[in-house]
Amino acid sequence: MSIQSNLNTIKASLPEHVTLVAVSKTKPVSDLMQAYEAGQRIFGENKIQEMTEKWEQMPKDIQWHMIGHVQSNKVKYMASYVSLIHGVDSLKLLQEINKQALKNNKIIDCLLQIYIAEEESKFGLDENELNALISSSDFKAMKNIRILGLMGMATFTEDQNQIKKEFIHLKSIFDSIQKQKEVSQNTSTLDNFSTISMGMSGDYQLAIECGSTMVRIGSSIFGGR
Ligand SMILES: *Cc1c(COP(=O)(O)O)cnc(C)c1O
Repeated sequence: MSIQSNLNTIKASLPEHVTLVAVSKTKPVSDLMQAYEAGQRIFGENKIQEMTEKWEQMPKDIQWHMIGHVQSNKVKYMASYVSLIHGVDSLKLLQEINKQALKNNKIIDCLLQIYIAEEESKFGLDENELNALISSSDFKAMKNIRILGLMGMATFTEDQNQIKKEFIHLKSIFDSIQKQKEVSQNTSTLDNFSTISMGMSGDYQLAIECGSTMVRIGSSIFGGR
């Protein structure tokens, strides 16, 4: 199957309110250009250097999403052009993003990554850490970031019930933040809190059933890595 037909099939299966991030990590620019020519404008990469090389070579109306783990000292390399950072999981990283956004005279959109899997290796905040973070005065003081929502990755397993449980958990955390936001008028940083980034090639339909509004799909579009 061609990249274009894979993309069209997936897009046709997505409800209108769900945004597709085409995860193009490890794939050559020629593959990304096929998706671009089929109309795709949002691409996800997990390494800053690779994303920057692709950004340099490709049309400038593409929105680049960083979906991988980000080291603070590398934020500066993508700050000028990145459109959404999915994997933010510490105040320190947020502060660095805020600082680099300020330097570039822009606001950078972020998602906070929540730890929902049973594996030890996945990054992210738990619910208590999330609540502590968003209620801190350091958080409220940052003017050059916006938190658009939450991101999570389910356990790598065939067990659909396990995955479903984890997605529902993420949705419930998301709902509780939205509720808090309504009562406390927390901070303008959370004004645009409306996105749940969950679901990949193997589990995106289940993720959408559980409330996902943004799916990150790689191998089903571009083939295996
Ligand atoms: C690679 C990756 C994806 C896409 O995975 P596929 O199974 O190829 O769809 C989604 N999210 C993150 C964070 C990734 O690193």
